Amino acid sequence: MKTVTILGSTGSIGTNTLAVLALHPEQFRVFALAAHSNADKLFAQCLEFRPNYAVLGSAQAASSLQQRLRAEHCPTEVLSGPRALDDVAAAPEVDLVMAAIVGAAGLSASLAAARAGKRLLLANKESLVVAGDLLLQALAQGGGDLIPIDSEHSAIQQSLPDDRSRWQADVRNIVLTASGGPFRQRAAHTLQAVTPTEACAHPNWSMGAKISVDSATMMNKALEVIEAHYLFGMRPEQIEVLIHPQSIVHSMVNYHDGSVIAQLGQPDMRTPIAYGLSYPARMASGAPWLDLARVGRLDFEQPDPQRFPGLALAFEALRMPVGACAVLNAANEVAVDAFLHQRIRFTDIHRINADLLASAQCAGCDSLEALAELDVHTRLQAQQRVAQLSPSGRG
Ligand code: NDP
Ligand code: MG
Repeated sequence: MKTVTILGSTGSIGTNTLAVLALHPEQFRVFALAAHSNADKLFAQCLEFRPNYAVLGSAQAASSLQQRLRAEHCPTEVLSGPRALDDVAAAPEVDLVMAAIVGAAGLSASLAAARAGKRLLLANKESLVVAGDLLLQALAQGGGDLIPIDSEHSAIQQSLPDDRSRWQADVRNIVLTASGGPFRQRAAHTLQAVTPTEACAHPNWSMGAKISVDSATMMNKALEVIEAHYLFGMRPEQIEVLIHPQSIVHSMVNYHDGSVIAQLGQPDMRTPIAYGLSYPARMASGAPWLDLARVGRLDFEQPDPQRFPGLALAFEALRMPVGACAVLNAANEVAVDAFLHQRIRFTDIHRINADLLASAQCAGCDSLEALAELDVHTRLQAQQRVAQLSPSGRG
């Protein structure tokens, strides 16, 4: 019986994780569930899974949830605040930590799980983008391991040799596939008019709002390029991105002998989640079977740099001092939030990201404190750019 903490349990990945766990009650027990503010959903999850702990962002919300749970005779103890996230990630009883908080807010708990030697199931790609070296160091110190949940990185891991020492010798490059999102065929000059609802309407995947916008700008793929660099030790020139609209081939590895090994499946996050939970064994995920005859054809094309200028920023950031990736991530989080609140246009997201990366002062920012300061500073700068670009700022 394995014990699991789910950080971000009320989100898209969190909900899918609980759906997989519900299929295997004899193998897994939920130790803690953590959310930010969605108390109603967390309440329902606590009644169903009866974890030892639940975590909410504010003390007030936590105390009111505690009362509701007591009234239902649910034994769960409710905690609050960022420190509580670290505690439920690092608790000695826990074997597996699903890191599915969105954004850099997930970093501290990812680090806590890594330091404590847990198996870290990492959906929160922003943790690696902001502090890749530090997270890998924490994993090495803690003696645990990391299994990527991002479908592309799960696919790459499944397509690489088990023996890590062969990776550089055998592999020519890795290819991350990208669906191209909702605007793959939309004329670049019309992109400035798109609405948050249009940007969040992903053709193949159902996901949280932030990652859906990232998929529409292809900043999601940019973050995934950085994620792949840290996870697999690939140099930027060994990482290729290919548009594959059907989202069936989740990514592939090109070997020196000309072989290409890929992982295929339906676009359903329950598959990489189940892989991470049961690794190295396999277990049922609830995802539908892949019927290739029904899919019929698999298409591939190069990403269009006019439509998706954000992708190049990842390669730029990887050639700069380490803090550059943290700058890109912070700028993007602020810009996406401003777009979702209709304060800036869709195309302004890229403007803000590109401007802030170009002016980044990040030499020597390799400690956690320096990265945290850089993150705060970049968010302030990005807010100023948002104010200039928002309709009231434009005058
Ligand atoms: P959602 O927006 O659906 O969910 C985010 C979760 O994080 C919610 O449980 C939310 O709680 C919680 N949360 C948000 N902010 C905080 C905070 N400050 N402190 C604690 N908890 C917080 O996101 P997704 O599930 O789509 O994505 C989660 C992560 O997984 C992201 O990093 C994303 O890039 C990655 N990912 C997602 C995929 C997907 O298919 N969705 C695929 C690959 C990667 P509340 O509900 O209370 O706000
Ligand atoms: Mg992905």
